[in-house]
Amino acid sequence: MNWKPILPKIISSYQNGNHTVTIYSDGTKVKETIDPKADHFTYYTPESFDLKLTDYCDGGCSFCHENSTINGKHADLSKINDLMSRCKEGTEVAIGGGNALAHPNLVTFVYYLRSLGLIPSITVNQAHLKPYYEVLMDVKKARIAGIGISLTDPNNFEDFRIIDRLGDNAVIHVIAGVLKPSDYKALYGRKVLILGYKDFRRGHDNLSRHSDEIKKNIEQLKKDLPMLVDKCRAISFDCLGLEQIDPKTVLGMSDEEFAQIYQGDDYDMYDKDGNISVGTMFIDAVRMEVARSSTTPLEKRVPFTGKEYMSDLLSETCWVYSENNNEQTAEDEKAIFGLL
Ligand code: SF4
Repeated sequence: MNWKPILPKIISSYQNGNHTVTIYSDGTKVKETIDPKADHFTYYTPESFDLKLTDYCDGGCSFCHENSTINGKHADLSKINDLMSRCKEGTEVAIGGGNALAHPNLVTFVYYLRSLGLIPSITVNQAHLKPYYEVLMDVKKARIAGIGISLTDPNNFEDFRIIDRLGDNAVIHVIAGVLKPSDYKALYGRKVLILGYKDFRRGHDNLSRHSDEIKKNIEQLKKDLPMLVDKCRAISFDCLGLEQIDPKTVLGMSDEEFAQIYQGDDYDMYDKDGNISVGTMFIDAVRMEVARSSTTPLEKRVPFTGKEYMSDLLSETCWVYSENNNEQTAEDEKAIFGLL
């Protein structure tokens, strides 16, 4: 019998800083330094960024670090179209809000990003799956690469039927400290992203009121992580999640095993030669500001016009964040770890 293995197709391949990036149709990303002896990656331009499209949201979540409300404004996307067209093909664009599904130009924008060869994904709240079902299906038709669903109601089977219709690239997003053991069952057999608890804006007020409960949930999640790794299809973490859950220690991974899958820290910005060593950033298209990440203090965000090059914006987010940052970092850490 003749048979051929079905290998994922390469959908994008490019050079960035000291390395090449290859992205496959199944979502796998392989990064290889050009110099085989190099022990870290450097970046000329961002390989991915979070893009906030709106401050509108009717969710009213007590832990919302974006302070989004029903009075929040939508971004004027015509102001960032040129900027998007200057991204390298293969750049990953993580769309969020607020409730990004409420942006009136979302679907057209996703088609536009795809036409540029970019790889858009979106994060939506579970509570918006039903009310925005049509938009969600249109976004899927526009070839969104991934859909993250923030878990709010693990027992809502109708919502999970919608999630199943979204296909293979649906990822359930949970927040360390908010996720409880009684929620775990909803994650079994699924792809899961564990986000760190963001001690920022409404998230800060919520943490002050419920720090014991949040701390207990985080400790429990650490204990339960090996079981979740067995039962879930895949588990990943953002940087803050790595810091709060410490999967390397919890799962007993060696330095080598961890180095194979660790993508680097958002705030470890320069190597010893002054090269940029972070490949991500945050773009708030509502306020027209860029920053290291969505939790960067407001005074360390940089206004932009949309006429810049992405490489310049990346270096500006690093430079502005690192300037006189020691005092700020100590304060931030006290705020986070003092309460947790
Ligand atoms: S956390 Fe998400 S769903 Fe909740 S209010 Fe904020 S933007 Fe809306």
